Amino acid sequence: MPALLCQNLTKSFANQPVVRGVSFTVQPGDILALLGPSGCGKTTTLRLIAGFEQADSGLIEIDGDVVADGRTHIPPEKRRAGIVFQDYAIFPHLSVADNVGFGLPRRERPSRVAEMLEFVGLAGMEERMPHELSGGQQQRVALARALAPDPAVLLLDEPFSNLDAALRLEMRQEVRHLLKASHTTAVFVTHDQEEALFMGDQVAVMNDGRIEQLGTPEATFHRPRTRFVADFLGNTDFVPGTVTADGIETPLGLLPQHPNLPPGTAVTIASRPDDVILTPDEKGNGRIVSRRFIGIAFISGVALADGTIVHSWQSHMTNLAQGTAVHVRFGDEHDLVVFVGDTAVNV
Ligand code: ADP
Ligand code: MG
Repeated sequence: MPALLCQNLTKSFANQPVVRGVSFTVQPGDILALLGPSGCGKTTTLRLIAGFEQADSGLIEIDGDVVADGRTHIPPEKRRAGIVFQDYAIFPHLSVADNVGFGLPRRERPSRVAEMLEFVGLAGMEERMPHELSGGQQQRVALARALAPDPAVLLLDEPFSNLDAALRLEMRQEVRHLLKASHTTAVFVTHDQEEALFMGDQVAVMNDGRIEQLGTPEATFHRPRTRFVADFLGNTDFVPGTVTADGIETPLGLLPQHPNLPPGTAVTIASRPDDVILTPDEKGNGRIVSRRFIGIAFISGVALADGTIVHSWQSHMTNLAQGTAVHVRFGDEHDLVVFVGDTAVNV
């Protein structure tokens, strides 16, 4: 039995559909990362699960109990869903211990608070006030508070977006570790692809109120089924091509792939910076038009004769100046994803 089931959820605001037929399940102890651009309906989906919004239609079950369907709307406090928001959501006027113990039965409170603070690494900070804590510590208090009542599912809405970049990386690892150590079932909302790929056992990519793809991080990244998903995950360029008897003719030369399509079919190839190989060549088919240094590598933008731009990783030891003429080709490590229109044909 899944710990969380959402089936065909819909929600409109003022006749504007915001969530349009969202379905997924989360197995006990799994983390589902819900990934999508700002405004695509992620927070609304979480609020439907939490019970802060009432769905127009669809079914929600938590731990096998129907909490929402056409007739039922169980109030938030009876849903056994814990919530961690972006803006900490801890009470500024309560101590750490009172924040974590808030809402717990009085009898259990001291031992459960101590246990939770130990768990998130804040033992000894019981009497501190929120303003005496760092951003990361405040978020740990919020996590301890959400986990203290032993929720059946934990909902996290962009919980690290107010933290600086270094701390965000650290919290990512720590929170994933804590969720796994406590076998917590969670839905983790983010607009950051790297965060989703790191945090999720499954990743659901959401676009305009719909889930376009749901799968493991690896499958979603390597086998995007729509252009939107390919575009959203991983610096993808789209290269035009034409199917021929010998392979796919592209501005980077012939790609030896044979999608099951008639010769002459126009396709688009998803190309990522690690798929494109450059060698300096005076008579080459491309020219470097941009360079971005990302520490471990350069990402070079290369213009091809027909105006197509592709990007390519270079080792940080390789110094190809802007304007350098290069030979550009696809690597042959793996098949590239091929699209007809918006839909992948070979994944
Ligand atoms: P996300 O979390 O993915 O950024 P949201 O779920 O917050 O997206 O919002 C999706 C859309 O729904 C947005 O266009 C937003 O303006 C709209 N929306 C969200 N909540 C309300 C509301 N209470 N009333 C009207 N429109 C809303
Ligand atoms: Mg949101």
